[in-house]
Amino acid sequence: MSKCEKINELLSGYIDNELVQSDHQLVEIHLRSCEYCQREYQDMKKLRDAVANSSVEMEFSTEQLEMIMNDLPAKGSRGLGWILLLSGLITLIGFGIWQFAISDEPPWFIKTAICAVAFGILSLFISVLRQRLVALKTDRYQDVQI
Ligand SMILES: [Zn+2]
Repeated sequence: MSKCEKINELLSGYIDNELVQSDHQLVEIHLRSCEYCQREYQDMKKLRDAVANSSVEMEFSTEQLEMIMNDLPAKGSRGLGWILLLSGLITLIGFGIWQFAISDEPPWFIKTAICAVAFGILSLFISVLRQRLVALKTDRYQDVQI
């Protein structure tokens, strides 16, 4: 194994400060003299910082916030929720009327309808919860600004 390969394997631990003293020094000394590993280190560090920033510190501008509030997954799940809820309810009501007219064993689609209603309510709940969470984050951010 070449020196650079060994250093490369240690880089991730080096960035996270998880190496033992001797390995840490080994990387530090090598980075000073090797341009290739220095570049690898910078790239890896940049990536780490980007990941850390995106998960820990989320700062929204108004446009970004609007984008999140109106983004496709939220809209889509809400639309889907309504469609499932309504179609499920219509099926159930229709079944009730039909059942009233002709008494019979419950057919397969009644189970589907119940599932659709349950799933629809769940979708709406998730969609509302999601927006609540976004709103909560904004409130906190505005508090910090004031
Ligand atoms: Zn190297």
